Amino acid sequence: MSGRELVVLGTASQVPTRSRNHNGYVLLWDGLGLLFDPGEGTQRQFSHAGLAVSRIDHVCVTHAHGDHCLGLPGVLQRRALDELQTPLTVHFPQAATDTIVRLRHATPFEDTAPVKLRAVDDLVPTTVDLGGLVLRSAALEHGEPAVGWRVDEPDGWRMLPERLEELGLPRALRGDLMRDGEIKLDGRAVRREDVAEPRPGQSMAFVMDTRDCDGARSLAHEVDLLVIEATFLEDQRALAEQVGHLTAAQAARIGAECGARRVVLTHFSQRYPDLRGHLDEARTAAPELDVVVATDLDRIPVPPRR
Ligand SMILES: [Zn+2]
Ligand SMILES: [Zn+2]
Repeated sequence: MSGRELVVLGTASQVPTRSRNHNGYVLLWDGLGLLFDPGEGTQRQFSHAGLAVSRIDHVCVTHAHGDHCLGLPGVLQRRALDELQTPLTVHFPQAATDTIVRLRHATPFEDTAPVKLRAVDDLVPTTVDLGGLVLRSAALEHGEPAVGWRVDEPDGWRMLPERLEELGLPRALRGDLMRDGEIKLDGRAVRREDVAEPRPGQSMAFVMDTRDCDGARSLAHEVDLLVIEATFLEDQRALAEQVGHLTAAQAARIGAECGARRVVLTHFSQRYPDLRGHLDEARTAAPELDVVVATDLDRIPVPPRR
């Protein structure tokens, strides 16, 4: 298994189908696990995906519509049943606070570890450090106040073995040099840039129920992996606009125009029993794009570093 991948738990929008569960997406990022928009059935989809609920450290909810949050109670209660001792933070837009608080205490059970609720501004972008990964939010445009999410790994450094060799830098000092930027070796200064080159961080964005808007595009900007809703096809463009959703063509165009490296389409209306139309439409709209039409239980790797 790759160290950084998306596990798709469900790909349905309003109504689940025989082959599509409600939303649910797990981003596994080294040791960290983020669960996005747990819809109904999420707890069971964890089992189908072969994932333990204990892998999750953060839950990010885009908005209060049921297909994006009705699975939260099951996940929280399962953590208690499994007697997990690690804390969990639930991030959500301020306007969803009442819904999230009700779901948090939907039925009686005893927590075994802290669950922190973190409301973010509905309109103003926010940023928080998750420890080695930065979580951002930005406002989307939907019938209900909604935010999209993005995680960014800070830029780092890639050590160049031949330079390390040339300078004869002992292995024990390499960590200090990377951390401090400069060390003394036999009385002379060695700088980080003498033995390493900048390494751009990786990123992932999660853009759910929305029209095409600035927030969606700011989250998608040059991201490595973009998960984006494609509820409708172009034949329903007017309806999509009216209810605050995207078509497959629009989603693909956002991905391509924002320079996303891999785009995962999801959140499909139940009116489409098969999704060949979504793939065709996305390919026509953005022929060069690396696009995946998600299926439940897919595992989609974050593309390798640039
Ligand atoms: Zn939805
Ligand atoms: Zn919605």
